[in-house]
Amino acid sequence: MEIRSVGVVGAGTMGHGIAQVTLQGGLRVILRDVEERILQQARSRIEKGFDRLVESGKIGETQKAEFLKTLSITTNLGDLKNADFIVEAATEDFTVKKAIFQELDKICRPSTILATNTSSISITKIGATTRRPDKVIGMHFMNPVAILQLVEVIRGVETSGDTAAATQELAKRVGKTPVEAGDFPGFLANRILMPMINEAIFTLMEGVGTVEAIDTVMHLGMKHPMGPLALADLIGLDICLAVLRVLHEGLGDPKYRPAPLLVRMVDAGHLGRKSGRGFYNYT
Ligand code: NAD
Repeated sequence: MEIRSVGVVGAGTMGHGIAQVTLQGGLRVILRDVEERILQQARSRIEKGFDRLVESGKIGETQKAEFLKTLSITTNLGDLKNADFIVEAATEDFTVKKAIFQELDKICRPSTILATNTSSISITKIGATTRRPDKVIGMHFMNPVAILQLVEVIRGVETSGDTAAATQELAKRVGKTPVEAGDFPGFLANRILMPMINEAIFTLMEGVGTVEAIDTVMHLGMKHPMGPLALADLIGLDICLAVLRVLHEGLGDPKYRPAPLLVRMVDAGHLGRKSGRGFYNYT
């Protein structure tokens, strides 16, 4: 089936970026979140993203206006019932995702693919909450979505080959390179990345180095575009903690235990860029 419209559930850090690249791919987008305020904020972030493309000469003002015309926002999940493909990018919490998938399963056409952008929750487990596990798949974009090229595509136990092929096709249509990863905790990207971020936080906690020293070592010494603590702030410390907990529990290996300093910062509401404070200050 041809995909013309995409429903995006969750308009936060990832959802607004997924909506932006999907619009750029020439598809209609209907973006859903729980509050009008969040949706308005997402719309203006998307508009700013297009402004940057205009400034760099990649698109013109007319194209920007066309893209924005094909974006709708809603607080009503029911409005996504006619979308051809759904990408869920709501809070990293199984209970939240289960409720969304069960509702989408009820309202969407039986042919609609339901993808999740989860960083770490089992695709098989999310698929099992619906009556269409063959059409549930992981479509894991990277942050910032507009810039990073990779999309991990993760098949659950029941996910069909057709669903995987359609998801890879969509990833290419929105300008990304899909890579298949197995449905094991953290898939590939976070299984490799999060232990590094966690270890950086342990070294900070143990006084092995300052925030600046740790980030400079990885930035200049390993040629990473940014240090692991700056990256953790960008990702969101709550997300990092949630992913580490899934790795720890799912793989049963103590090497994935979250650094107590990370837990304490999340408890304090220091979530990184999105809260204005993390390992760095953003205010
Ligand atoms: P976020 O906190 O920035 O945004 C989540 C949004 O979901 C919020 O705006 C919240 O209001 C909304 N939401 C909560 N319940 C909802 C519901 N029932 N319906 C619609 N919207 C709802 O989080 P994020 O960083 O954008 O993460 C979203 C998902 O993407 C998570 O599953 C996360 O693991 C994954 N992810 C995050 C990153 C990252 O770097 N932040 C990278 C890849 C994947």
